[in-house]
Amino acid sequence: MKLTGRNSVESNRIAISCRGLMKSYGTGDAQTLALRGVDLDIRYGELLMLVGPSGSGKTTLLSIIAGILDQDAGQCLVLDHDFKHMNATDRARVRGLSVGFVFQTFNLLPSLTVAENVAVPLLINGMPRKEAAARARGLLDSFGLGGRAEALPAQLSGGQQQRVAIARALVHEPKLIVCDEPTSNLDHATGHHAMEMLRREAQAPDRALVVVTHDARIFEFADRIAHMDDGRIVEVSSGTAQETPQ
Ligand code: ADP
Repeated sequence: MKLTGRNSVESNRIAISCRGLMKSYGTGDAQTLALRGVDLDIRYGELLMLVGPSGSGKTTLLSIIAGILDQDAGQCLVLDHDFKHMNATDRARVRGLSVGFVFQTFNLLPSLTVAENVAVPLLINGMPRKEAAARARGLLDSFGLGGRAEALPAQLSGGQQQRVAIARALVHEPKLIVCDEPTSNLDHATGHHAMEMLRREAQAPDRALVVVTHDARIFEFADRIAHMDDGRIVEVSSGTAQETPQ
């Protein structure tokens, strides 16, 4: 077995570094400690899965990594940025440029066409409308979805909607892709197809992918798997995806 090809982890450069992350919700008797000291490094080129029981802190950790939630204590460096110490404008700008999101529920805007949905991150980053539309269409074409560019999301199957959502997450070429339960609303074959697309299209040596999932059927797509329990990472194991038979 040897590490090769586009899907391999080609560098040891750290994309995301978490040290001693603590996070609680609520106060007093109602307080929940969601993260109890999380240390984790994620490398460029890597697809890391965060797995564990419901309530173990996966979404909280993903939200901190994506810059949409602040930790109470500890440090999280993401692509050399420290979201916690940025003002709201800088944070929104860096997130808009550097992060692509894929959600369990697809989160496509129902009144926009597929192409318009895919163009949204480009428009947010200030690209002129025509150019953004052309870029979105080009990407949809290359993903085999060009024929659905003018459709509304509701006219697509769940699997197609998630592939559109993956296109939207990639269109602005972000350095970090975060996915929260991307296959939970898909049947096995469709979820498998979406993960194949994610690995094929999203994984790159200068990009990190973090996927929260409890779907054991997709563990095979991970380079590494970080197992969470009760607010901690209790084990980091190798996935199987990086082993390319020679
Ligand atoms: P997971 O993604 O592994 O299911 P979460 O990060 O969503 O775990 O939740 C970790 C813990 O924090 C759970 O006990 C959950 O109930 C609690 N929690 C998460 N979000 C909130 C919130 N907004 N308010 C209060 N408690 C929350």
